[in-house]
Amino acid sequence: MAQQQTITLIGGGLVGALLAQQLAGRGFAVEVFEKRPDPRIAGFVGGRSINLALAERGLQALREAGLAQDVLQRAVMMRGRMVHTRDGRSGLQRYGVDDSEVIWSVSRGALNMLLLDAAEAAGVRFHFGQSLVNADFDARRIRLADERGVERDLDAPVIIGADGAGSALRAAMNAHTPLGERVDALGHAYKELEIPSAGVLAADLVGRSGGHDQFALEPHALHIWPRGGYMCIALPNTEGSFTVTLFLPAQGAHPSFATLPDTQAAHAFFEEDFPDLLPLIPDFAADYEGHPVGTLSTLYLQRWHLDGRALLVGDAAHAIVPFHGQGMNCGFEDTVVLASLLAASPNDTADAFAEFQRIRQPNADAIAAMALENYVEMRDSVADPHYLAKRELGALLAERAPQHFMARYRMVTFTHLPYAYAFERGRAQDQLLEQLLRDSTQATSVDLDAAVAALRATLPPLPDLR
Ligand code: FAD
Repeated sequence: MAQQQTITLIGGGLVGALLAQQLAGRGFAVEVFEKRPDPRIAGFVGGRSINLALAERGLQALREAGLAQDVLQRAVMMRGRMVHTRDGRSGLQRYGVDDSEVIWSVSRGALNMLLLDAAEAAGVRFHFGQSLVNADFDARRIRLADERGVERDLDAPVIIGADGAGSALRAAMNAHTPLGERVDALGHAYKELEIPSAGVLAADLVGRSGGHDQFALEPHALHIWPRGGYMCIALPNTEGSFTVTLFLPAQGAHPSFATLPDTQAAHAFFEEDFPDLLPLIPDFAADYEGHPVGTLSTLYLQRWHLDGRALLVGDAAHAIVPFHGQGMNCGFEDTVVLASLLAASPNDTADAFAEFQRIRQPNADAIAAMALENYVEMRDSVADPHYLAKRELGALLAERAPQHFMARYRMVTFTHLPYAYAFERGRAQDQLLEQLLRDSTQATSVDLDAAVAALRATLPPLPDLR
């Protein structure tokens, strides 16, 4: 690059910090304006989930940034879903074939701080407590406000918005040129609660947990309490606690957040629906009262960029519901694609931005759809005999004909196959499983040789994964 080009990034969250590091590593001068104070000094101010699941796509981006090992050292491995039924039984449904196919629970705050350190080490300049207020794309200037509300204007010829689902840059772009924005509210919301480490819980509860000293539940799993129209999940934290998330309709008939307005009603609901989970949450009343109800939506945009002047990435471009654990992973994949496109044509951002949208939008749409479908799967189907039979038959086919069958969850979570491919292939495979099983709840009722023959006749081999 003849002259170092400056890129102005709005938002130093997970995607913004990683993108900044990658762009600086490719020779760009990167200035990041982040609304919150520096979390390494002021402490991390949450907002979204406390911890989150990192999968292969996110890990691959971290590998390319040279950060994967550092992140994994601060993560807890999760081998599968531990499903807790209403009668108190539990069983592990593995995600992959073995421990090479696992996901990782990471702390959002710790990960964000690690990424900020890495970006700074690569030469990125962060400006904390600086909120984007507006942008004048014709004058190529942005307006920022500091924590006291004092505003100033700055030149910003190329702006990238990684400022999350409520993106201020998106609003400014939309006011300049309509982006074709649509926000579909899920109608369900969430609240976080905490299971402390085992040492904090009474000895009799720990005795029941299965012998892990530090954790009150099996640590190497993503726990689910599916209850049909709603559910709780829990992800482990390195120091032995779990973050529990209750997902429930926001309004409407019981149970919904509207019918559980106080801790008394919520406690009674947990006694009835999550009797094995409730005793693990000693501060239930304080958590329920003190933690906000978060809303969940899917964001669709027709345009992600204004020619070469401004672009949206991560949640700012394609926020999705969290049920596939892929929002951050997808955003991390964005950073790899965008950094290499910009590095290839540093002086033609319009071309790079258009190509970025062309590549990423169909994939963002596909993971948005799969994340919505996965909510039904997690809260309902994981306890359904027909679903379990399909899953078992799928596993048998994958074993017999690995070139022709791979569960959609595995394609999304453990490969780099485009999301759009996983979505289409998953649909075709599902149709075949339905045909083979019909109404049966027994995978063993299917003639496997005939099933493999039908699979090979119907679907082409999977792409080479190496
Ligand atoms: P954000 O993380 O929202 O970061 C945006 C940043 O921009 C923030 O630092 C914010 O302070 C800053 N900002 C905002 N406005 C301005 C402004 N005006 N000026 C300057 N800065 C601004 N994903 C997974 O991959 N796995 C999971 O398990 C998972 N679990 C989730 C659970 C829940 C309950 C939720 C809600 C989401 C979950 N996600 C998960 C999705 C994940 O949180 C997001 O996809 C991810 O945080 C997106 O990163 P981002 O950097 O694009 O946006």
